[in-house]
Parts: sequence; structure tokens; C-alpha cells
Amino acid sequence: MENKFRFYNTLTREVETIIPHEDGKIAMYTCGPTVYHFAHIGNLRSYIMEDVLEKALRYAGYEVKRVMNITDVGHLSSDADTGEDKMLKGAKREHKTVMEIAKFYTDAFFEDCRKLNIKTPDVVEPATNCIPEFIHMIEELLAKGYAYVAGGNVYFDTSKLDDYYVFSSQSEKELLVGVRDDVEEDVNKKNKNDFVLWFTKSKFEDQALKWDSPWGVGYPGWHIECSCISMKHLGEYMDIHCGGVDNIFPHHTNEIAQSESYLGHPWCKYWFHVQHLNDKSGKMSKSKGDFLTVSLLEEKGYDPIVYRMFCLQSHYRKPLEFSYDALDNMSAAYKKLVKKIAELKDEGETDKEQYAVWREKFLDAVSNDLNTSMAITVVYDLLKADINDKTKLELIRDFDRVLSLNLTAADTKEAKEEIDAELESYVLEKIKERSAAKKEKDFAKADAIRAELLEKGIVLKDTREGVIWQKA
Ligand code: AMP
Ligand code: ZN
Repeated sequence: MENKFRFYNTLTREVETIIPHEDGKIAMYTCGPTVYHFAHIGNLRSYIMEDVLEKALRYAGYEVKRVMNITDVGHLSSDADTGEDKMLKGAKREHKTVMEIAKFYTDAFFEDCRKLNIKTPDVVEPATNCIPEFIHMIEELLAKGYAYVAGGNVYFDTSKLDDYYVFSSQSEKELLVGVRDDVEEDVNKKNKNDFVLWFTKSKFEDQALKWDSPWGVGYPGWHIECSCISMKHLGEYMDIHCGGVDNIFPHHTNEIAQSESYLGHPWCKYWFHVQHLNDKSGKMSKSKGDFLTVSLLEEKGYDPIVYRMFCLQSHYRKPLEFSYDALDNMSAAYKKLVKKIAELKDEGETDKEQYAVWREKFLDAVSNDLNTSMAITVVYDLLKADINDKTKLELIRDFDRVLSLNLTAADTKEAKEEIDAELESYVLEKIKERSAAKKEKDFAKADAIRAELLEKGIVLKDTREGVIWQKA
């Protein structure tokens, strides 16, 4: 397949044209949320940009299979395997079981995604579903001499690799050797950067979820889950692996170390990392106490899609500073844009030639290191262009398959609410008419009203409390 889709590959430190392992197909993996708390809008910046990447690849003609894990065990307070399990922390905070916490915050995460028009990946797999796969990979790593048992835990031996710091330049590598001096010492580790594949003894006392393994009852480390879950669903070769920049080290570095040692060949070719969302005091994080969620934005009266547009207006490789002033400006711009689009007349013929020209402009923008702000500029330029309304509307509908900003009038929140309100008053009127008909024993009329509503996708149910209705 002829292709020009390119983005910055953290591994090679260059903007590269994507050449997938299998022509026309992309195997893509996203590090999913640790479900011990609500996602903050910083986490969601990463998921929004990864969503646009997936949709842009599909727009460019690729068949994409995207897999995401749900971290419901093994992610400790510090990414360097110290502190308590984040899930346990959540359970203690809310006096619930770990599995209750996992279910609640997994649902909350997907609800936030729905509000932000983030598509659910093709496969979503919780870590606790894959314990046998983790154990198998750890056994192989031990058998190949890449891992060792110490103090009851299994560790990956980073000294076995020629190049552990794969994401860093030579000068950075020298600095990185001492980078984790401040981390709480684990006397079992042979080398400073060795990481835990399976925990038994340490952190064991109050760990809620534990499984039997060849090394004793325990639980998996955080990094092993992404290697196993991606291989389970995407096989031995992956094209694109995504995450926030904080995942580069140690998480993605460790994923590469264990995956390539296990496979014996290169694993994932392209690494896509999204820069952080910051607030005035620095990186947004859950450990800071109060943090910004989608629900909080909604409580303050913002349409979540405005936050999506805020993210799309900035390049994914640049840090983005959040402020309510900036969101207010975005909100006003969004309303104006949607209104302009709503004024277009959906009639006449599509100009096929112009359609192809503008589609190419949009594709150029998203294919060029995911230049989403340029893609939005294409929408503004299109609105000003001298072509007919029908063509403009068709194009905007097409672009919105990638942008997912509810740009055409029928998709906006206000328009949906208006339609829902209209529908509700119509249905209530019909229910009244039907009750009156029943009272007069005109059952034929009552049935006809029920049938008329059903044709419009509305189902009536007679209950003791009265008639209720719902969309079929
Ligand atoms: P977590 O739920 O903590 O495992 O994080 C989920 C995703 O959000 C990961 O890909 C992180 O790299 C990413 N992330 C964390 N903090 C931020 C932030 N402030 N801005 C953007 N992405 C973030
Ligand atoms: Zn991961």
C-alpha cells in the first residue's frame, strides 16, 4: 500500500514513515489505565491523542487492530517497584475490595471515554485475566537466563542486555546509570535497574490479590502485563506502541527488555508518546490530591468535547498547559464553529473533484506527525472556500470520523438535547391519547398509537405505576 503516514518514533528519535510488519495492517497497543481512581484530564489527553492516531490511520486506509490492557494489579506507587500496590491503596481509601474498585473505575474510565468520543479499542484485557500467560513468560525468561530469583521474588536481570536504555542517546545513557539513586534500596536486586517480574515475599503481607506460581503465592509486576497482553492478541510483532511520555522510562524500557529477550528478535518498531498536560503547578497527577476530571468539567458547565478540541488544537509532542481561561476561549470558538457548520445547506450535488482535493489536504495534515491543529485549520479554510455547501458538509462529516468533535449540527450536545426534548413531548402526548382511547375502550386506536410509536423506535410498557417508554 502506498503510504505517507509518518510520526515521531521515540525509538529512533526521528519522524518516520510507517511501514507496518504486514502490508496495510497495523498492530497497535496502548497502555491502559490503572483503575484505582478516576482518570484525570491529563491521562485523557494521552487517550484522546491515541484515539486520533488510530482513527487517522484508518482514514489513511489501514486496517487497525488496537489492544489495551487494564492495570488492575501490580502497579506500585512508584514505577520503580516500591511503595504499595495502587489498587490496594484505592481499596483502603474507599473501604471496598480491590475487585470492586477495579470494576467501578474501569466503568468510570469508559464513561469518560464515551463523553470524549474516544473509541473503545478492539481488545481490552484486564491484567488479572492473564496470570497463566505472565507465569509462562517469566518461566521462559528464567530458562533463558534473563531472570533470577532473589528473596522470593523474580527479577529481570538488566545486565544481560547490551543496550537496556533503548530510548536514550549515548550521553543520556551515561547519566541514566545513576538515575535511580534516590529510589528505596531493594537488597535483592543485582543491578539498580533490575525490575520485578513476580512478587512473593516483599509487599506480600497485605496484598489482596495473589495467585499460585512456581515461585510461591504472589502477583505479577506491572511491566510484564503489557508485554504478555500485547503478544496474546497481536502476536510476536507489533507496529505501534503508545503511551504518555512518563511511560518511556522505566515502563516501556522494561517492556522492550523482557519482550525482546523472550522473543529473541525485535518486537515493536514505532513508539508514539504523548507529552503531558500540566497545570500551573506542573504535571497533573493523581497523587497531588485534587485533580481535574471530566465530571468536574461537566459540573462547571463545559461540554467534554470542548476539552477534546483543546487537546487537538495543540501538538501531541508539546507540553500543554491547562487553564479555565483557555478552555473558555475554546468553548466560544467551538460554539462558533458548530454554528457556522449548522448554517450550511444540506442540498444539491457533491463536487467530487473538490471533495478529493480537500480530503487530501486533511489527510496531509493528520499524516504529517499527527498535526491535528492543522487538520482543524483545514476545516476553517474549507468553510471559507468557494465551493458548495453540500460538498463542505460531506467533507466535514468525513473529517469528523478522525476529529470526533460532533461538528455537524445533529451531533452536538445542544442539538441532541433539543431532539430528545422534542421527542419526549411528542411521546408524552401520544401516551395521553392512548390512555384516553383505552378509557373509551377504543382498543384499535390504542394499538395503532403503540404501533405508530414502535415504528419511530419507541417502546411502551404498561406498569402498575403507569406507562413508561424507552428507545428500542
Ligand atoms: P495511569 O492510569 O497512571 O497508568 O496512566 C494512564 C496514561 O496516562 C499513561 O499513558 C500515562 O503515561 C498518561 N499520563 C499520566 N499523566 C499524564 C499527564 N499529566 N498528561 C498526559 N498523560 C498522562
Ligand atoms: Zn504498559
